Amino acid sequence: MKYKHIFEPLDLGFTTLKNRIIMGSMHTGLEEEKNGLERIAAYYEERAKGGVGLIVTGGISPNIQGWTGPFSARMSSKKHARHHKKITDAVHKHDTKICMQILHAGRYGYHPFNVAPSAIKSPITPFKPFKLKKSGIKRTIRDFTNCAKLSKLAGYDGVEVMGSEGYLINQFIAERTNKRTDDWGGAYKNRMRLPVAIVKSIREATGDDFIIIYRLSMLDLVEKGSSWQEVVQLAKEIENAGATIINTGIGWHEARIPTIATSVPRAAFTWVTKKMKEEVSIPLVTSNRINMPETAEKVLAQGDADMISMARPFLADPEWVNKAKAEKDDEINTCIACNQACLDHVFLQKVASCLVNPRACHETELNYTPANTIKKIAVIGAGPAGMAAATVAAQRGHKVTLYDSDSEIGGQFNIAKQIPGKEEFYETIRYFNKQIELHNVTVKLNTRVRAEDLENSDFDDIIIATGIKPRTPKIQGINHEKVLSYIDVLKHKKPVGKKVAVIGAGGIGFDVSEYLAHEGESPSLNIDTWLKEWGIDKTMEARSGIEDVDEQIHPSPREIFMFKRSKGKFGGKLGKTTGWIHRSTLKKKKVQFVNQVQYSKIDDEGLHYVQNEEQKILHVDNVIICAGQTPFKELVEPLQAAGMNVHVIGGADVAAELDAKRAINQGSRLAAQI
Ligand code: FAD
Ligand code: NAP
Ligand code: SF4
Repeated sequence: MKYKHIFEPLDLGFTTLKNRIIMGSMHTGLEEEKNGLERIAAYYEERAKGGVGLIVTGGISPNIQGWTGPFSARMSSKKHARHHKKITDAVHKHDTKICMQILHAGRYGYHPFNVAPSAIKSPITPFKPFKLKKSGIKRTIRDFTNCAKLSKLAGYDGVEVMGSEGYLINQFIAERTNKRTDDWGGAYKNRMRLPVAIVKSIREATGDDFIIIYRLSMLDLVEKGSSWQEVVQLAKEIENAGATIINTGIGWHEARIPTIATSVPRAAFTWVTKKMKEEVSIPLVTSNRINMPETAEKVLAQGDADMISMARPFLADPEWVNKAKAEKDDEINTCIACNQACLDHVFLQKVASCLVNPRACHETELNYTPANTIKKIAVIGAGPAGMAAATVAAQRGHKVTLYDSDSEIGGQFNIAKQIPGKEEFYETIRYFNKQIELHNVTVKLNTRVRAEDLENSDFDDIIIATGIKPRTPKIQGINHEKVLSYIDVLKHKKPVGKKVAVIGAGGIGFDVSEYLAHEGESPSLNIDTWLKEWGIDKTMEARSGIEDVDEQIHPSPREIFMFKRSKGKFGGKLGKTTGWIHRSTLKKKKVQFVNQVQYSKIDDEGLHYVQNEEQKILHVDNVIICAGQTPFKELVEPLQAAGMNVHVIGGADVAAELDAKRAINQGSRLAAQI
């Protein structure tokens, strides 16, 4: 067996987990939806059927003060527990265990009743918390305990106590947020009392045959977080208090260091869990940016942890474990860690899904069932929209031909994958290539389709997925030899000088700047380089992993100036959970941001522009245009006029604010009902 460590059962004494893979806790927003529990049950059941050993649910609050947002999921009564039975029954049909995560948001609660050890507002939420009184702390411990007892009643095999990511328990532990002077604050032994009391009380109330996972913040990545010695002390106390398993938490939500974004190297933090293995004897779980079986196996084989927790990879592919077992890695729909449809949705109070798998969290309404009538379908354009449409249609039994004028499938993903930190985009193209093979899609590459090629064809349906044309702004001198488009730079690899202006600050402007600011190996492919660039101390001598550590940035090989006409911060329209990372990376590379400009002309001198009514010139070697896109849909009208049954998807449909999430979703949904 290729992945023998992954598939070695784990004996917990009173129960056995069938493999070493945990589906980690993830809030999906389904919890708060109408018919949410039915939808969650379907969502978890699909993952259980897919072979995962243990599921940890999204966070459930033990009381109202602990809500993540108004009316978020809570378990504090028998009625709540009865409802959850649907979930546990669905999962248990497939020999998978399920634990409920108890999450008290503390000052991260996005509501006016939130509480914390001290009345200090978090930098990422608008509500200042109330300071918990001593009686409130005791009540909180009782609420955690009651919640765990109710979860047992609901059929859960255990609970996970959320003690990391900067939530209430973490807020008590760290000096950063705990300024109390009573016996719940001050010395570390006081600050760590809350988690220990909670675990002890839950163990007493639930008996010996109940899994208690404690999610321990092993690396806070914020100022005035825990030192390694403190983390170890807590881990030992938690073990003594009766926890079954310790899970690794990395970074508070307010930390300004990326921990799960696509630019974080795979398995970037398992060394932290490995260090803890020397200190405790109960099983340890590691996580963060583990998305493929080979990485998971390597982490287990080198003894970094006893189990692997993956969350987003199970949105991307519910069958991940079964495919790994069958050694069909190339069939795995890999999570590219973009956050675009999962975390970004949750932060916007929208139901989560997945960019590469629009069925995620929509299992009850989006299904790829066999077609009633087999059709002959042409898909023009093999970008994300076309690849999704072609493969879903073919999976349903249709006879599909996929055309692209390029020599490979992937569309703009072939450009995106070359950006340092976006290497995961290769995986999506690999996945679709395999789906094309599995479902017998006929692929015609190097074939530019003209309307006359299909006007009198016998295709029942024609799907136009021809994407976009880069916008060419009307600036005097736009044809000057200094001017390059992002396609010239990224695809045609035209040489770029030492000083450049980038026109446009959308996703592509940022990506082009990132590309130009790097030379040599991408830091995302080398854990040690990446840790140094973000100032993380691997020796763990620095408190919180970061205090007083200097970043070691490789300087940009060129001077870069990024321009936009509008007001407001740069990258404001990028992903909610990733925009700050892009901004921060470019700042480290000393990219300069210039906004509120009007472009006058481009000539031998460089870029002429007006800012604050003042005419300025930036002497640059090149001006790179990243000014958005317009739909490329020249085939639509003639084919419609010829009476063909035409559908338009992706960029060819609407280019504005188009991303791969919309392209894949639109392609998959069309193919699901065609
Ligand atoms: P495209 O990907 O443009 O595909 C269209 C395809 O049609 C092309 O392969 C083209 O060759 C083919 N074609 C056109 N005309 C014909 C014809 N007549 N005959 C045959 N073939 C034809 N999106 C995100 O969501 N997240 C990101 O992080 C992200 N990063 C990006 C980074 C870069 C550098 C770039 C360039 C794009 C990025 N995008 C990102 C955007 C994303 O790639 C696009 O939104 C997506 O590719 C659009 O998909 P599509 O299928 O509509 O079009
Ligand atoms: P975009 O996000 O629409 O940005 C276009 C930029 O060009 C804007 O900054 C705009 O700024 C400027 N612009 C627009 N019209 C202009 C004109 N006529 N003259 C000069 N400047 C002009 O488009 P994009 O950067 O090409 O990205 C395309 C899509 O790909 C995006 O919608 C995005 O979702 C997706 N994408 C996502 C990511 C990601 O990381 N999630 C990365 C890359 C791409 P001003 O109007 O202020 O000048
Ligand atoms: Fe992974 Fe992106 Fe899907 Fe989220 S949306 S699960 S990060 S691929």
